[in-house]
Amino acid sequence: MSGIRIIEESCIGCRLCVKACPFGAIRMDGRKAVILDNCTLCGICVPACKFNAIDYEKGPVSNAVDITKYSGVWIFAEQKNGVPEPISYELLGAGRKLADDRKTRLTAVVIGDKLSDACEKLIAYGADEVMAVEDGSLAVYNDESYSDIFVQMIRKGRPEILLMGATTYGRSLAPRIASRINTGLTADCTRLEIDPADGKLLQTRPAFGGNLMATIICPNHRPQMATVRHKVMKPLEPDYSRKGLVTRPEVSIPRETSVKVREVVKTIFEMVSLAEADVIVSGGRGLGAPENFKLINELAEVLGGAVGASRATVDAGWIEYNHQVGQTGQTVGPHVYFACGISGAVQHLAGMSSSDIIVAINKNPDAPIFKVATFGIVGDAMEILPLLIKEFKAALG
Ligand SMILES: Cc1cc2nc3c(=O)[nH]c(=O)nc-3n(C[C@H](O)[C@H](O)[C@H](O)COP(=O)(O)OP(=O)(O)OC[C@H]3O[C@@H](n4cnc5c(N)ncnc54)[C@H](O)[C@@H]3O)c2cc1C
Ligand code: SF4
Ligand code: SF4
Repeated sequence: MSGIRIIEESCIGCRLCVKACPFGAIRMDGRKAVILDNCTLCGICVPACKFNAIDYEKGPVSNAVDITKYSGVWIFAEQKNGVPEPISYELLGAGRKLADDRKTRLTAVVIGDKLSDACEKLIAYGADEVMAVEDGSLAVYNDESYSDIFVQMIRKGRPEILLMGATTYGRSLAPRIASRINTGLTADCTRLEIDPADGKLLQTRPAFGGNLMATIICPNHRPQMATVRHKVMKPLEPDYSRKGLVTRPEVSIPRETSVKVREVVKTIFEMVSLAEADVIVSGGRGLGAPENFKLINELAEVLGGAVGASRATVDAGWIEYNHQVGQTGQTVGPHVYFACGISGAVQHLAGMSSSDIIVAINKNPDAPIFKVATFGIVGDAMEILPLLIKEFKAALG
């Protein structure tokens, strides 16, 4: 069994371990350190103690699987009405590289109804094989039936890597599957690569409020599961001359589910379509007041773009959450991103720094946003936005 304990005779009460523990799982009891119940056994405190006063015993891993029995890279190809969602192509782009590095096959799993066109497209975008499960009852996403089918397929097909979108569906499906097949899951990865030393999947994502990047591995369980946000990975150019295999796996389709989808309603979230926009005009606290978002709306309208926002403005109630860009909002990757009165906190940058061109307007020349900006305008957004609107209106007719 794994375990950690303080060796009281050696502990001199220096508190170094308390500072080192990222989970607040050590407190001082007088001059002795005490490990609390919320300890995750991460082991970070052990080298922090200069007095060898922390005893950490790593036990054998329970439920480890024979990882040599797993091979192949799978992606979950989301679709709506038989048309693959853009995230599916992005996952194929990432999966293709991983499969090539592992010298293995890339398979897209698609679940739905009337999927022939989707299969063709998924092959054009890089899949070697498409496993399609088609049934009228699967036309609309359903947590229970989709996860049940996926689990059956994983148990039979034993992929070593499974990628899903960090989308509404992927975020719901991935943890259900991971817990049923007893494997790990790394959410919101920003980089995925194969460790050349041992072939394991290195899953990198922001951690601790975006202040550092953590690389996570899943050494003893399979598949290695990761979710990736929309626009973080790049799709390949489609090649409709590519040949691939379309298979129809034999699965039992659950007929009785406790969740019944009665109607699919298009939400405002979809209409804002930040994730798809080529131009985004975002406003921050530097706008000074909620009513000044009308300038942001106007510039976005002139440019045919979408409206984004920093979390500070969302928290202040100036604009709704579905406009928020950043670590706890949406990840976007437009061609042009205007950051108006936004300081450029690391959590905001996490959601927009992959934009092709970043235009920053800020009255503070030292604002961090200028470090990532392609074009920086130092000045009052209230004065600059009307000028931009006027100029773009004139230029675009
Ligand atoms: C766990 C966690 C998750 C987070 N997730 C997100 C997230 O998803 N998205 C996000 O945005 N933030 C997020 N944040 C918050 C983030 O840390 C910042 O607090 C936030 O981004 C600041 O928003 P802002 O730039 O609008 O406001 P401020 O930091 O207050 O910056 C306002 C800027 O406007 C400039 N300014 C002022 N007046 C003018 C003017 N008249 N004209 C031009 N410029 C002007 C100022 O110089 C300043 O740079 C998160 C924080 C945490 C801890
Ligand atoms: S093992 Fe990790 S979580 Fe536990 S006390 Fe040490 S640093 Fe904190
Ligand atoms: S770092 Fe070591 S010696 Fe210092 S308080 Fe923690 S356990 Fe005790």
